[in-house]
Amino acid sequence: MKVNNVEMVISAVKPDQYPDEGLPEFALAGRSNVGKSSFINKMINRKSLARTSSKPGKTQTLNFYKIEEMLYFVDVPGYGFAKVSKREREAWGQMIETYMTSRKELQAVMLIVDLRHPPTEDDVMMYDFLKYYDIPCVVIATKADKIPKGKWSKHSKITKEKLNLIPEDELIIFSSETGEGKETVWNILTKRFK
Ligand code: GDP
Repeated sequence: MKVNNVEMVISAVKPDQYPDEGLPEFALAGRSNVGKSSFINKMINRKSLARTSSKPGKTQTLNFYKIEEMLYFVDVPGYGFAKVSKREREAWGQMIETYMTSRKELQAVMLIVDLRHPPTEDDVMMYDFLKYYDIPCVVIATKADKIPKGKWSKHSKITKEKLNLIPEDELIIFSSETGEGKETVWNILTKRFK
């Protein structure tokens, strides 16, 4: 898909701020620094629309990006930052839980993990949460350019096993550097979840 038109519509902290046009939504989740902003920017052909910073303590909001008047990417604050206070973590959890468990427009969550390393305990917890609530998930294993192509299948197998990925949930090998996987992800979003 060729993306020309992207609009950052709102940074929301509570449900009455979510957009109300009923467009399908895809949420992006991943631990801090995994490459989530780079993934979003690559998908929408922007250098830096989504913030590529992962400082703890920045405002915890759900950022709604409207793409081609067709769907929304909903950027969820990164998890797994050790320096975040217990109170911040709880606020994060509550905001995510409210959004993910009650939002009818939510079609699927794109869970961003690092292809180079096995998923962390936080990644596993996030995936378990999605499965507990029966939320479809597409796993994006990014930074693929950082390991040789010959090792991709071994690494994706490890990722699938550690997450205990169910067959309905696909894993897509991705790179924000090369664009690897980009068209595959767009196909899934526009064909499987339209
Ligand atoms: P976020 O905190 O999850 O939003 O992570 P960022 O998108 O800011 O990325 C964290 C760091 O990883 C940055 O230095 C990026 O340039 C780098 N990065 C992200 N994705 C890739 C990728 O696919 N390949 C490579 N080589 N570096 C990446």
